[in-house]
Amino acid sequence: MLDLEVLNNMNIYPPSLDTGRCFIYCRVSTEEQAKNGYSIEAQRDTCTKKAAELNKTIIDIYMDKGATATVSNRPQFLRMIDEMTEKNIDTIIVYNTDRFARNTYDHIIIKDRLLKAGIKLISVVQPMLDESPEGNLLDTFLAGINAFYSQDLSRKTKKGLQRKWDEGYWPGYPLLGYKTYQPDGHKKTIIPDPINGPIIKELFRLYATNDYSIVSLGKFLHEKGIRTSNNKTLAHNTIHNILTNPFYYGFMRWNGQEKMGNHDPLIDKKTYDICQLVASRHRNFVILKRKYDFLLRGVVICAQCGQRYVAEWHNINSSKRDRIAYYHCSKRIRCKSKYIETTILEKKIADYFKNIKFSKSFTDIITKKVDHYLKSKDKEVADQRKLLLNRRNGILANRATLEKRLMDETVDRDTFRRLHDELQTDINAVDKQLTSLDSSRNFDFNLLEEVLALTRDIPKAYAIAHPLLKRKYLHFFFQSIAVNNQNIETATFSPLIQELISQKEVILWNGLLPREDSNLQPCD
Ligand SMILES: [Zn+2]
Repeated sequence: MLDLEVLNNMNIYPPSLDTGRCFIYCRVSTEEQAKNGYSIEAQRDTCTKKAAELNKTIIDIYMDKGATATVSNRPQFLRMIDEMTEKNIDTIIVYNTDRFARNTYDHIIIKDRLLKAGIKLISVVQPMLDESPEGNLLDTFLAGINAFYSQDLSRKTKKGLQRKWDEGYWPGYPLLGYKTYQPDGHKKTIIPDPINGPIIKELFRLYATNDYSIVSLGKFLHEKGIRTSNNKTLAHNTIHNILTNPFYYGFMRWNGQEKMGNHDPLIDKKTYDICQLVASRHRNFVILKRKYDFLLRGVVICAQCGQRYVAEWHNINSSKRDRIAYYHCSKRIRCKSKYIETTILEKKIADYFKNIKFSKSFTDIITKKVDHYLKSKDKEVADQRKLLLNRRNGILANRATLEKRLMDETVDRDTFRRLHDELQTDINAVDKQLTSLDSSRNFDFNLLEEVLALTRDIPKAYAIAHPLLKRKYLHFFFQSIAVNNQNIETATFSPLIQELISQKEVILWNGLLPREDSNLQPCD
């Protein structure tokens, strides 16, 4: 059901004249401090100016300096979030939203809290991130897509790895007990390590007898030569992770996906299962429950009883290599709703996206905003490049002077060496910043390109998106999707999309018209 309170507090319509009370939040990491124009004082001054422009009274300024942007490193940020309702502010001004949250989870949680508290977030350098519907949409999209791309691997690498996964090969490093193998002219794959493989097999066998503790198994591995790089016994946790990794019987988990792999298993499923039983009975370590995320988990609910759907694997024959995953109502015993194969429901959801389209005028606005953003980004990059090049030239001039002084013998050789090395370090640092400047621009471009692709053709962008990105898209659009008898019965759009629908910026096809309660009818 739609949370009306949230919608009412969304501040979709900007007030005519912005007056009120605000907080300013600035953050700088140790690494950034070195860069020109990014000091915390500069951020504060820019934000203060913005507050004056908007006629806002600054109630407090919060500043965090720390190595990274993790929550624990942001004491002032946490204090601000605590104090924002009590001090009755209506706006938080930041230099850039990346000051605010470094991942989507953070971002969405915080935005939601701000939304509920009726507090606006204004970013000085991202004028497009305003409180208009398209601003909100872009903001949400950008945060989600940004987090997706910021993950360790580049998109390209991901594609290659994904292909490998799709073909049934393990896309990661070989696990202990395996090694990479690449015969001439063939794909790189992994095979059991002739030396370590049998030892790992034995490890499982021993553990399955329930006669060995992890500590004694650590000693066993140590004796057999399986040790850490500095010759120590493997950590408790490492051994536990091996013993609970289904990879060893052939089952792969990677990047939110799971399937049987092509690799030769070291153990059979039965041995693995017994080990899990032993592990769950041992109280000598913490069992880290890793719940696999099925794509639709958290989005699909049961139309009959309102409970969330969960998913799980079912073996379809005794070999246990063939399995089918099903979504079903979590209230399994008392609810009579039917199970549905994950692939079928996921396909139905993908098709459901075909009913949603942004209006032409809306995509035009987004395109303009993206264009505007890229232009301002280009200017920013050009300005920073100029600064960096100036600094580089300065260092080069200093180096020339120093070299001349060595010739003149006005500096001794040791001092010369030391100073010369220092200058070289400075030059390298500047060069590094110049390179990262380019990649940050490309990064932004890719991100915005994804946003454009999504706004122009939602079902297509969804269909080809990486599973992790798909999840984000699902949450952009839907609050929940109710399923009944293996069909989509109603869908509740996210508050943002709801609002866009009411403003006719989102067009629903095939008679998908919002009812009074804003739930939607299916359209098969
Ligand atoms: Zn149910």
